[in-house]
Amino acid sequence: MNLQDNNCACHPEAYREVLFETKDYNFNTTNASGLIFSCKECGSLYPDKFPTDKCLEQVYVNYYTSGKKRSKLRKVFRWLLRKSQKTTTFRNTPLDACAICDYGCGSGEYLQTLNNSDHNGKLFGYDPVRPESEDGFPFQWLPVKVFDGKGNQFDWLTMCHVLEHVSNPKQIVTRLTSCLMEGGAIWIATPNANSFLIDCFKGWARDVDFPRHRQVFSGSGLHELLSSCGLEIEIQREDRINSVINFGSCAKNLLGDTSVSSWLRLRILSKALWRLIKHMFLPRHLSDLEATELVVICRKST
Ligand SMILES: [Zn+2]
Repeated sequence: MNLQDNNCACHPEAYREVLFETKDYNFNTTNASGLIFSCKECGSLYPDKFPTDKCLEQVYVNYYTSGKKRSKLRKVFRWLLRKSQKTTTFRNTPLDACAICDYGCGSGEYLQTLNNSDHNGKLFGYDPVRPESEDGFPFQWLPVKVFDGKGNQFDWLTMCHVLEHVSNPKQIVTRLTSCLMEGGAIWIATPNANSFLIDCFKGWARDVDFPRHRQVFSGSGLHELLSSCGLEIEIQREDRINSVINFGSCAKNLLGDTSVSSWLRLRILSKALWRLIKHMFLPRHLSDLEATELVVICRKST
């Protein structure tokens, strides 16, 4: 696999500090390893090397959105998530939204959920990887040129775990902003660089996801990026059940790495389990800082 240099999208020239080494523990698509750096300016995390565009197809072969069936355990967790809080599944989508678009819609799970709900808005989806046949989806697949800001407008745009994958997050957010109707909003979710699970599991953390995540934003890094696109941000609260699901993936990565002694794996796992328990009972203002995910709703600055 060919790799090239990678930097913080907001501060490519800033000082950086090496934190830990990692591999593709999530999907095992390559033997390559990467060093994860922290940007001294905004605290976002990023690998020093990232696949060239030509190699990207290979690193997404087994990805969640590739149409592969989810494991039974994962399905149970998803069910719990849906039961625990409707707003997570529906991404805070207003009931009166009339033109809803999911940028990076994958296999269209969110739009299908909306279609089966009380939402009556028109549904649109865009993903760089499109299905062979677009028949049978309850939404319209869009080509990327739709986001050139020339007349196609939406009042609710969502980007769920997209920003951490792209090479030009500012350009994409700017383009989406230009497609917003008056009063419209963009809902964004992305992993948190200050997540307690990354702190505990380091390179085995699911959200490091080398070599698919180009950058894991800190709260301040994300705020700086979105403000530079002329957006005002309303911070949302993560559903803490996410942390439980994420913990399971991190533990699987760690326990599967037999190059590390059993004793060390047990030590890391016990420490992480203790942090998870504490996280679940922390007051909200503290648990939000170390949440696994940053969730924001953005509107054009007035
Ligand atoms: Zn930075």
